[in-house]
Amino acid sequence: MATMRGVYFLEPGKLEMREVPVPQPGPGEVVIKVESATTCGTDLKAWRRGHKLFKPPMPFGHEYAGIISAVGAGVTRFKEGDAVTGTNAAPCNECFYCKRGTQQLCIHLEGRFNFGSYAEYHRIPDYIVAQNLFHVPSHLPFTEASFVEPLGCAVLCAINADIELGDTVAIIGVGAQGLMQIQLVKALGASRVIAIGRSAGRLQKAKEVGADVIFSSNDGDPVAFVKELTDGQGADVVIEAAGSADTWQQAVMMARNGATVMQFSGLPGGTQVAFDATKLHYGEITMKGTFHMNPRAAEMAMQMLVTGQVTVKPILDGTVPLSQVESALQRMQRSEVIKLAVVPSLPES
Ligand SMILES: [Zn+2]
Ligand SMILES: [Zn+2]
Repeated sequence: MATMRGVYFLEPGKLEMREVPVPQPGPGEVVIKVESATTCGTDLKAWRRGHKLFKPPMPFGHEYAGIISAVGAGVTRFKEGDAVTGTNAAPCNECFYCKRGTQQLCIHLEGRFNFGSYAEYHRIPDYIVAQNLFHVPSHLPFTEASFVEPLGCAVLCAINADIELGDTVAIIGVGAQGLMQIQLVKALGASRVIAIGRSAGRLQKAKEVGADVIFSSNDGDPVAFVKELTDGQGADVVIEAAGSADTWQQAVMMARNGATVMQFSGLPGGTQVAFDATKLHYGEITMKGTFHMNPRAAEMAMQMLVTGQVTVKPILDGTVPLSQVESALQRMQRSEVIKLAVVPSLPES
């Protein structure tokens, strides 16, 4: 039986390279030869402290692009040799939440996450092949195509943010999500995007991808800064993508009355955040959580990548071979890189 190398997540802080059988596609499934598996903040979280969606020991990695190496019975939309990318899950379309049009909340989603893209080959289950697998055109590099999953999450957030033409949108956090959100809110009609972060290098990238104003939280209070820029009112829309209780609070305080605040980043389980009830109530703040994506958002994300309306080039800080997943996560943790593409065909040095 043919074998391959694949990275397994054993427990927080512990990964292992294993030699395992090359997966075979069941009915409706495909297997891809992985050309790019991008590292993700979610992987970093899981590796550092565990994650409610991760049940180790398990194959690791969930972002992918590659070439179909085997096709299961009944697959008609794809054939061997096709370049594809896709997301890491797909809804059931039958449950309470799916029927209400919120497929990202699908009751069965937890059992339908597909892991194992940090490997030479990756099996894609039938429900993902049917709903969330896309052809990659030849002009789009695999290392960029594998952004469709994180970009899909950014898209769902942006389209639920109620952005109107001419809006001022403040985005807290200039990691991968923030840098994609900047481009999406611009595409949705925002006139002025204020990017708030800490790292000078990343704030520069925020400018490159379209932020009109950048602000480093090291230089002062971002809430005061946003208010000053908006005649004391605050931003029309605020997106929090930095991941701390403090920034969740700041997001509300820098919003104008009547604004929508999107709390994008997940905080560690059990985290409590206190909010100013006066601001929420008398300021008529709409605060929304946003999680994951649905097939429509994934399709939109793919379109943005294919057309280049969203560029992920400034977010991708290089490629590494399969053996360097752990050091890639360490480099992310030290904020040396935003995202890296794990490319199994790269020679191990
Ligand atoms: Zn991801
Ligand atoms: Zn469902």
